[in-house]
Amino acid sequence: MKVDVAVVGAGLAGLTAALPLQVAGYSVLLLEKSRGLGGRLASYRLNGSRCDRGVRYLTEEGRLLSGLVRSLRQRGVLEPWIEQSHVYRAEGLVLDSPRTHYVAPEGMSQIAKELGQGLTVWYSRRVQEITPQADGWRLGLEAVVEGSKDPLEVMAEAVILAIPAPQALPLVQTLPGMTPEMLTPLAAVTYDPCLTLLAQYPQDGVPADLPWRSLEFPDDPDLSWLGFDSSKGTPSKPRGDRLLLVINSSPEFARSHLEDREFTPVIEQLLNQAATRVGDWLKTPETTHLHRWRYAIPRQVWSQDSLVLQTPFPLVCCGDWCGSRQVETALRSGLAAASSINAQHQQRPLPPISQLWDSPS
Ligand SMILES: Cc1cc2nc3c(=O)[nH]c(=O)nc-3n(C[C@H](O)[C@H](O)[C@H](O)COP(=O)(O)OP(=O)(O)OC[C@H]3O[C@@H](n4cnc5c(N)ncnc54)[C@H](O)[C@@H]3O)c2cc1C
Repeated sequence: MKVDVAVVGAGLAGLTAALPLQVAGYSVLLLEKSRGLGGRLASYRLNGSRCDRGVRYLTEEGRLLSGLVRSLRQRGVLEPWIEQSHVYRAEGLVLDSPRTHYVAPEGMSQIAKELGQGLTVWYSRRVQEITPQADGWRLGLEAVVEGSKDPLEVMAEAVILAIPAPQALPLVQTLPGMTPEMLTPLAAVTYDPCLTLLAQYPQDGVPADLPWRSLEFPDDPDLSWLGFDSSKGTPSKPRGDRLLLVINSSPEFARSHLEDREFTPVIEQLLNQAATRVGDWLKTPETTHLHRWRYAIPRQVWSQDSLVLQTPFPLVCCGDWCGSRQVETALRSGLAAASSINAQHQQRPLPPISQLWDSPS
């Protein structure tokens, strides 16, 4: 099989890159190593309750993100959650500056499902090799789980790598003509890791008068954020019959424990630390689940919207590491990658962004 453009990674950047190209008439194929859309825009089901273990909420900050939020609100995907986060300081809880926090009651991955409508995606396919052939790129794929009937290779005239830079580097560093200087931008990017703990409680296990829904810890050695996740549900779209907290570790804590094989002490330390901040009730959840994010938040970023490599056929890298505004950067970078591929390929008119998000492809 041969497509015009193969997009590696079906996170926000990959979806945003794929959409305008497909609308413009290119044949586009998304290759995703996991079993669903969204990447770090991730939801998870714990004992039947839906929760978010990646992106926590969206705010109307940044031009592209504001447009996306508006469109998703009109489509009934996003709802306002809270007007202000709380911040834990030595002097006690203080309110952060007001800005509406929007969430998808059915889980934040619903956003990716909405954006991915009409796109062709091969799931559980990890791109492990990209090689130039006489008439384009050959992408060699690894089956992450068995059972999918999709092939283990695909040909493409152009490739977009919409994945964290440290994961893109091994795919491109052995391409013909690559010099260390060309790879410097990719090699210089670093990410902070994060350990995300989901902790589930019975209905009477969380104080009814909890003063916060979203609690930031700017100075804590172990914690970065605590969210009362089950409050993101609505009466018509409830999250489940148990209460659930999401506890995000600090980058330092995650770095120290990322490779730990035994998770129980890590979970206990996060629960104990969170309990010292908000109350002993938090120490005894019914169920827990720990997720390791090796590439959670970009720390050292690339200063341009995308990275165009000098290769035999078009190849562009993009993602949230092309700037410091996370989701806004992922959107902008995906669009920049699409424009760059279009400029190097068939130079078709690309749809304006307003059209893109208001009508699924
Ligand atoms: C716990 C947590 C909380 C966060 N909270 C917020 C928040 O509140 N607000 C905010 O703005 N941002 C937040 N972020 C950051 C935000 O999630 C990211 O900035 C954004 O989602 C990045 O999108 P992306 O498309 O660049 O990358 P990703 O979402 O990482 O997408 C990359 C995709 O590529 C796939 N992939 C990787 N390698 C391969 C391969 N070789 N072959 C095939 N597929 C591959 C991955 O499976 C993934 O689906 C948070 C992140 C984390 C981890």
